[in-house]
Amino acid sequence: MPLRLSKSTLKLLIAPAVIALLSVCGALAQSSVSDVYSQAELEAKAQALMKQAVDSPNGLAGITLEKYPSHFSMLNVRTRTGGAEIHAHFADIFFVIDGEASLVTGGTVVDPKENPNGETSGSSVKGGQQRKLVKGDIVHISAGVPHQLVIDPGKTFAYFVFKVQQ
Ligand SMILES: [Zn+2]
Repeated sequence: MPLRLSKSTLKLLIAPAVIALLSVCGALAQSSVSDVYSQAELEAKAQALMKQAVDSPNGLAGITLEKYPSHFSMLNVRTRTGGAEIHAHFADIFFVIDGEASLVTGGTVVDPKENPNGETSGSSVKGGQQRKLVKGDIVHISAGVPHQLVIDPGKTFAYFVFKVQQ
């Protein structure tokens, strides 16, 4: 015999589930009042990611560390030059953990592909400003600005990122 539930019974069943979910969200928000990442900890995490990046066809590996109401943190490593990017809704803040790269910003994205979430990808950035990044450098890239990380052959690049919603 099929189980039949009236609308009011369904509401009774769903309400506790919604309350449980909300309290989980509240607990998550409270657990990250402050987060500290030591250089040693990030270097160790980056080394573990480097193995994945080497095996990955695009030479990229990354993890999301924490999510906050309007931003989130990531650790990324690259063994190869990345594609061009524009984030319509997020600024990128990089903290270079290890290695070196050239950052190209501004200009225009070559062969752009726009995604509905405000992310644009492309093969490269044309006519941008190129600057060398090394360990300890900090970068802010405003939302809407084309950018690309160029990795010279044999080099690697590890960087902590805050992605901040604009
Ligand atoms: Zn980016």
